[in-house]
Amino acid sequence: MVSYKELGLVNTKDMFAKAIKGGYAIPAFNFNNMEQLQAIIKAAAETKSPVILQVSKGARNYANQTLLRYMAQGAVEYAKELGWEKPQICLHLDHGDSFEICKSCVDFGFSSVMIDGSSLPYEENIALTKKVVEYAHQYDVTVEAELGVLAGVEDEVVAEESHYTKPEEVIDFATRTGCDSLAISIGTSHGAYKFKPEQCTRDPKTGRLVPPPLAFDVLDAVMEKLPGFPIVLHGSSSVPQEYVDIINANGGKLPDAVGIPEEQLRKAAKSAVCKINIDSDSRLAFTAAVRKVFAEKPGEFDPRKYCGPARDLMEELYKHKIINVLGSDHKAE
Ligand SMILES: [Zn+2]
Repeated sequence: MVSYKELGLVNTKDMFAKAIKGGYAIPAFNFNNMEQLQAIIKAAAETKSPVILQVSKGARNYANQTLLRYMAQGAVEYAKELGWEKPQICLHLDHGDSFEICKSCVDFGFSSVMIDGSSLPYEENIALTKKVVEYAHQYDVTVEAELGVLAGVEDEVVAEESHYTKPEEVIDFATRTGCDSLAISIGTSHGAYKFKPEQCTRDPKTGRLVPPPLAFDVLDAVMEKLPGFPIVLHGSSSVPQEYVDIINANGGKLPDAVGIPEEQLRKAAKSAVCKINIDSDSRLAFTAAVRKVFAEKPGEFDPRKYCGPARDLMEELYKHKIINVLGSDHKAE
């Protein structure tokens, strides 16, 4: 048993309380490799933003849970080295799908876990979430739960159709499970193809897809039922067109990729939404930078020469999200 406190990590309790009061949101960035982690930590340290490092099931399969946890531990020291005296870094399990995986993360130094029972019948979701909460809270580890179904593909989590969170269920759910935060479904979705072209309109000037707006009425109703309760948005990448264009101009093929417009996320960040998950955007940045190097310098075979630019572009992206979208800069001085 390793406590996250010994590793210099923090849970989400204070982060979320301050974020709700201050009208901003904490970035939750997924990481699978060293370059991504370096970029996240550099961006957070430079902007003094609290940050949540997320490990998904796919990341655990790809990079190994043990290695990722030690990397997060190293990240705390790296942050200090970069001059961030009191780094506020949370290590979070993204989309835990069983009690066992959540327990193993709690025991191994994670400071926060998500139990995603959203695909289960309501009562089963409650029972599973409650069991995880009871275990995690013994060790001061915070728990995120999910109610409502997001569409899209995230690693192995696939849902064809989304179902908005039912506001009439949230009080009962939060009370009976004791969860610390709640991921809700209001129209965000996983992946780089958040909407089908037929769900969108087209901008007559650029010909690009304009996605339908998020269901802020559902968010408002949830906030009314649970005043001051931390709300989480998954699947909140914006799919920046500049990255998609670089990818497509350099041999890639991402037609009609579309995300959540940043102004909608800015609006959400000012509300009780205090954690916004961003994964696809950094994948796009990484891929754009690598494709560009490959196209321009076909003789290059040193991975540092293409992973380095990928890292720089991700860092720029993370800083942009922190400062211009979530507003979390200078909240962890
Ligand atoms: Zn998610």
